[in-house]
Amino acid sequence: MSSKIKSYPGKEVSLDEPAAAKFLSTSYQTTLKYSWTSGVAIGRFLEGLKDGVLWARKCEKCGRVMIPPRMYCEEDFRPTDSWVKVKDTGTVNTFSISFVNNDASRRDRPIVVAVVEIDGASAEMGILHLLGEVDPKDVEIGMKVEAVWKPKGQREGAITDIRYFRPRR
Ligand SMILES: [Zn+2]
Repeated sequence: MSSKIKSYPGKEVSLDEPAAAKFLSTSYQTTLKYSWTSGVAIGRFLEGLKDGVLWARKCEKCGRVMIPPRMYCEEDFRPTDSWVKVKDTGTVNTFSISFVNNDASRRDRPIVVAVVEIDGASAEMGILHLLGEVDPKDVEIGMKVEAVWKPKGQREGAITDIRYFRPRR
């Protein structure tokens, strides 16, 4: 409602009317399935993960090397120009220590989620991932980290082909 709209047409349904079966209703479980393309940039990024390579895109106008890669530079309003291999090492830009699972249940041991600025990409370009092999109380912004990859035969072109990032050795 707003100052101009004081009421909607029709009759409001009170909370007790559906339970009292005052009108016809039905329910069913949908079986909808979705699929979508990852697109050119993320498609190549995901393919690269199978080979243990991180692909970024470079914009020649602003010079930025962007990861995750994108085909368009939002700073210059023009297509990006080239593919650049960047390293699988980086720096923790920010992080969060979580005691909650995806389903909102409590965790006994926390997970550490971080944005890792990737070496070879421009500043503040990074990917969100887990940190591992580190005590959460020892994690800090600026920490140097490296990717821990799944064995090559187990990779499937997903960001989880990197198990986590750990403090650089
Ligand atoms: Zn640009």
